[in-house]
Amino acid sequence: MEKGSGLNRRKFLTSTAKGSIAVGLGFTALPELLSSCSNTKKIVSVPFATSFTQQPLPYKYNALENVIDAQTMELHYSKHGAAYAKSLGEAVIAEKLSSGTSLENILQNISKYSVKMRNNAGGHYNHEMFWQSMRPKTSDNKPSGKLLAAIEQQFGSFANLKSKFSDAAKTRFGSGWAWLYTDSTKMLKIGSSANQDNPLMDISEIKGFPVLGLDVWEHAYYLKYQNKRADYVDNWWNVVNWDYVQQRYEAI
Ligand code: MN
Repeated sequence: MEKGSGLNRRKFLTSTAKGSIAVGLGFTALPELLSSCSNTKKIVSVPFATSFTQQPLPYKYNALENVIDAQTMELHYSKHGAAYAKSLGEAVIAEKLSSGTSLENILQNISKYSVKMRNNAGGHYNHEMFWQSMRPKTSDNKPSGKLLAAIEQQFGSFANLKSKFSDAAKTRFGSGWAWLYTDSTKMLKIGSSANQDNPLMDISEIKGFPVLGLDVWEHAYYLKYQNKRADYVDNWWNVVNWDYVQQRYEAI
């Protein structure tokens, strides 16, 4: 039995017990669909199992002010983020997923699903990760421990990692995400993807486990930064929650 399957099951049961899965969205079939994990198909386990429903934002809408304004946070979380979760729920029902299929399983096999599933499973996963990966601004905000050691070994310095990641975010044409991810050998890599794709997806050009992602869709920054995506990217480093990023890195 793989380590990840127990975690997934516990996550599902916890979510179901709280009544958070789909009930608020009106998908009465979804809890049944997701509550039985006994026949889960075993594939490569992915840590940080993500619920199919939107979780509470871990801070207030105005908590990241000066980097991300309250209006952008509110629209992004309560409209864009909520819409991905709602549409994901619809796709899960329409495509008759087998019981216990995790969101990570779906992403790893996304080529077998519809475009709606690809856009919304990716959109939901990416945003749920994104909210957790930020926190109110702190001075000298930087990683530590094993993650910092790996960054320094593989990129020379934290400054160099920021520069390379920022370049990936600034040069992604159109809508998409910049990623820090680990490849199959657990080496840290930087890249970007279009739309709501991510490195977990089997169709992705960059493949691995996402450790940190930055949303560079215009809806993430346009109210405050307008066309100046570069300013948004440079400012965003002040609110990265390195404790969360380190947890993801150390989980793989
Ligand atoms: Mn977004």
